[in-house]
Amino acid sequence: MTRRNRTAYGAATPKLAGVGLAVAALLVASLPVATPAAAQPANAHCGTSTGDTGSSSWTSHAELGQELRRLQAQRSDVLDVTQIGTSNRGREIWAARTGTGPKVVLVTSEIHGNEKTGTDAVLSLLRDMTAGTPAAERLRSLVTLVAVPKMNPDAAELDRRGNDRTWAEVVAEFPQLAGARPAWNYYNQPRTGDDYATRPGFDVNRDYHPDLDYVPRAEDFPGSSSEAGWYIHPESRAVRDLYKSLRAEFGAVDTYVDLHHQGPCDLDESGENQVTMSLSGKFVDVENHQEYNKGYRLDYSKQLTLAAYDGLSVRGQSPFGSLTLYPQDIDLPGTGLGSFALNGSGTVLFEVRGQTQTWGAKQRGQLIQTVEKGLDAIIEAVGTGAVNQIDPTRYDDIPETQ
Ligand SMILES: [Zn+2]
Repeated sequence: MTRRNRTAYGAATPKLAGVGLAVAALLVASLPVATPAAAQPANAHCGTSTGDTGSSSWTSHAELGQELRRLQAQRSDVLDVTQIGTSNRGREIWAARTGTGPKVVLVTSEIHGNEKTGTDAVLSLLRDMTAGTPAAERLRSLVTLVAVPKMNPDAAELDRRGNDRTWAEVVAEFPQLAGARPAWNYYNQPRTGDDYATRPGFDVNRDYHPDLDYVPRAEDFPGSSSEAGWYIHPESRAVRDLYKSLRAEFGAVDTYVDLHHQGPCDLDESGENQVTMSLSGKFVDVENHQEYNKGYRLDYSKQLTLAAYDGLSVRGQSPFGSLTLYPQDIDLPGTGLGSFALNGSGTVLFEVRGQTQTWGAKQRGQLIQTVEKGLDAIIEAVGTGAVNQIDPTRYDDIPETQ
């Protein structure tokens, strides 16, 4: 998501096992390790123009595949990597699963391809959780973690928000939409330095529908931000299908966390500190969507959010910088978080600082570490049940973004 743009996810699929082992062996010295927290530079680039994105510092789709194959080869006893879908331009969408605990924590990253921290944080988390240590073994006994890193690989490779798809391609897949107006979240004009006029795309994070069996209908277009999406894209359908399969297996997807970036220069309540990360557990106004309410649990989402907040805070101060509550006055049923919340999952949004076009790879290590520690705290709290002891009313005490 971004704050100012108000702009936040199968079929049985083949396994990666046995693929690319030779490649994996070459990649043992894999990805950079996170660096310690550092003070924020005063000269942050707070404009909206495209700058040096530093995109080569981040993990590409090919590198992600290599790293997942390496981990799978190394830890096949505790890690299961599957392809859950294929992007519009033919790239694999992978899910990595570890742990045998009774509660599922589902994590997705990079639905917006210019919001890359989450993917590296998920890889780090997977390395930690699949380790052969007592601590990792304990976590695996407590929860089942299912992560979809880089769920929108076409957008990620273009280092932009939207996927790589034309309305004509959508209509070709769904002939019943011929004559309908294109979806409201279709980008076909230049935007934040990206040439969508030449290469159109959609904000996939408005393509979810709380009715997980919804089939696109012409009368539901062009839609709006306060209405549900349509599952017209392979990327959102891959995550929707995964969600449904997990729900069938476990009875419920206990927790869903979606990893994003926001603007680089948001300030906290004091007006003095730039926000490192905003959190939220609320994405819809449930009163507006009662027809789709299948056990919405706002208090549980608040407890999960607080688990992350508390885990990143020490006596009210975070060693990772300023943490705030993301704006609460949103109603976005077309987001994965909104749709899955209406289906009864506890839901949490992470919004770290600065999309690639404004912030590049600055403080990359600190931001990755912040996201991973927040995920760690949620997994621990869900696994032990400590999340249920958290007072959800404290949610309102999290400082707001100015
Ligand atoms: Zn986003």
